[in-house]
Amino acid sequence: MDGRSDTAQSQTPAATGTLSIVGIGPGAREHATPAAIDAISQADVVVGYTTYIRLVKELLDGKEIVRTGMTEEIGRARAAVERARNGARVAIISSGDAGVYGMAGLVFQVLKEIGWKRGDAPELRMLPGMTAVNSCGSLLGAPLGHDFCAISLSDQLTPWPAIVRRIEAAASADFVIGLYNPASGRRTRQIVEAQEIIRRHRDGSTPVGLVKSAYRRRQHVVLTDLDTFLEYEIGMNTTVIVGSTNTFVFAGYMITPRGYTNKYNWDGEVLPGQRPGYSLALDSATNAPEVD
Ligand code: SAH
Repeated sequence: MDGRSDTAQSQTPAATGTLSIVGIGPGAREHATPAAIDAISQADVVVGYTTYIRLVKELLDGKEIVRTGMTEEIGRARAAVERARNGARVAIISSGDAGVYGMAGLVFQVLKEIGWKRGDAPELRMLPGMTAVNSCGSLLGAPLGHDFCAISLSDQLTPWPAIVRRIEAAASADFVIGLYNPASGRRTRQIVEAQEIIRRHRDGSTPVGLVKSAYRRRQHVVLTDLDTFLEYEIGMNTTVIVGSTNTFVFAGYMITPRGYTNKYNWDGEVLPGQRPGYSLALDSATNAPEVD
């Protein structure tokens, strides 16, 4: 089905192990890429959290499964590298994209630690997946239509003051902000503090979307605002998307415009003082687009 990966594979001697680092998307099979599904189907060993293993269980017949809890990442990454080095086809899976708060970085750290070089066994394959801001964004409308960033509120591996600095910077620079790991059973204070910081830079009516378990059985979507979103349930399967000052709500959708109407009217005509293909002309006094 996928000619490109077939070509790559046919050059691989059978004895060389492969390590595929696979993002499986948000949950439902149709939101995983065909390349990700192929990599899992062709693996001898599949490594991942119990939840992610469950999401792809129909692909796992006859395979060795290494499933562990949340706190055993280092051991799991090392085991995956070791097995692949010894000739197995190993797929290590993360939800969303494996490179976004996933296992990919850790796997590279393990490879660096053991002195692996390009061309050594195992052969590495990176399979991208749809990350949570994309899947959750699609359920909300088009919240990422302009500059956005992702911030994880988990302070288990990152000092909280560093996270605060990033929230502050993103809020003051008017980014749409996708908050990953906003809260868990024990960890509930961070999202409250994040709200306070962002609120200092944005109106209380700024749209906020909460998406729990996108494209999974328990999917739940709430569209609310910066002043009220903390009244809703926010847990470890929720992504919070906070709008910028330009984000608006229309027909129950959350939209961040790209800025076309700064330059064109609805008939597609260029506004006075503007030129297509050139930087937006600004009123020198106000720094606002020259539209009024
Ligand atoms: N690698 C993943 C992110 C892992 S961090 C990715 O690229 O999406 C875990 C966080 O991701 C969760 O706390 C939640 O904020 C977000 N997340 C992952 N899958 C999600 C889903 N299906 N629905 C909503 N949020 C999700």
